[in-house]
Amino acid sequence: MAARVTLVNSVVASTASYYMQAMKMSVSTLNELDRISRNFIWGSTNERRKLHYVNWETVTNSKENGGLGIKAAKHLNEAFMAKLSWEVIHNDAALWVQVLRNKYLMHNRSPSNQSGLWKGMGISSHILNKGIKWVVRDGSRVSFWLDNWSDLGILRELISGPFTINDAQLMVKDLITEDGIWDFSHLSFSLPESICQVLRAVPLQLYSRGEDCIVWKGDSSGKFTTKSAYQIAKTNSTIDVPWRWIWKAPTYPKIQCFLWQMAHQKLATNSFLNCIGLQPLSTCPICNSQPETVEHLFRLCPAAVALWNQLQTPLSPSQMSFFDWLRTNCANRDPSHFMNIPWNIIFCFTVWFHWNARNLKVFGSDKPFKDPILSIVERAAEYFALYCNEPQTICGPVNLFVDRETNVSRPFVEELNAPRDV
Ligand SMILES: [Zn+2]
Repeated sequence: MAARVTLVNSVVASTASYYMQAMKMSVSTLNELDRISRNFIWGSTNERRKLHYVNWETVTNSKENGGLGIKAAKHLNEAFMAKLSWEVIHNDAALWVQVLRNKYLMHNRSPSNQSGLWKGMGISSHILNKGIKWVVRDGSRVSFWLDNWSDLGILRELISGPFTINDAQLMVKDLITEDGIWDFSHLSFSLPESICQVLRAVPLQLYSRGEDCIVWKGDSSGKFTTKSAYQIAKTNSTIDVPWRWIWKAPTYPKIQCFLWQMAHQKLATNSFLNCIGLQPLSTCPICNSQPETVEHLFRLCPAAVALWNQLQTPLSPSQMSFFDWLRTNCANRDPSHFMNIPWNIIFCFTVWFHWNARNLKVFGSDKPFKDPILSIVERAAEYFALYCNEPQTICGPVNLFVDRETNVSRPFVEELNAPRDV
């Protein structure tokens, strides 16, 4: 799956981006692009459909927000259009900006005369409204009520009821004294004190104020980025849970993708398949006593408990949620009881091994399985030796030798097979 995600990002998304940057694409084209990406990731073809375990809305979130970092075509197109709109605001020197400004902003044009590009830029207005913010200097260009210049957003949205014409036309400069102090006495009504306090916190320059300017608040640099515009386009579906830890887990990308599915509790367990009507029974195939949910399989099933006991898992509170249990273990770099390999490496390979062992049992493979602890530690030690920068911290019976055929260092299996205190 990790390879498919990389291919979608590098081929499908980047090819379409070329056109998306210059035009608003039709809804059917955008939906078709999403459908191609979606089917490719989950392995569906026209002849054979496969389960899409995690919904597309979640998949297209950023990795920090619980997705796979794939861009939904519609929102990506909107973000690119927002980039063009940002250029029209900021890039005075560009000839194409001057043409558009003169054509559409200097005179009143009827909508039927608008070019496809200008209409396309219109779909990004909601991104710009949320993403741009005025930095107040002399306050002459900023509308007190209608522009976004404070941490409270557009102030008119906080006040209900009609305004007088004077109130509606107030600029920020009208409420700043010559000494650079806020003065709300020009308003025809009293602002709530909580709002006044926030506004007083907006810094004002006493000298050399200069012109007000627009910055992009989606990025700390104040400059527009397509990535932050895409995030704003997807704001409604943003999940406020940190997910970055999955992509920092010390393991192979395919296991990171597996952890991602685990964290969403979207694996082809019997309970999941039963829920969507593909499996008559939801019982765990290992203990045959409880429904096979993701949490049961990896945390509560007697077989899983025995495996964790053998590995001498660091204690975690039993009331901890499954998500937090997964996150805590993936972030725990304490040395394990196996050659001081960090625990999170052992943990990642253990859940991967447990899932594969479960599948072998379910699908009736007669392939014999080696000692599970040996298999897990062997792979974890190999990963640690090959990809972590501190191989010297491995201690205990770890003799690495170089496989002459593959030229790859591997842990010396017989040493790992030595008796352990478990
Ligand atoms: Zn079970």
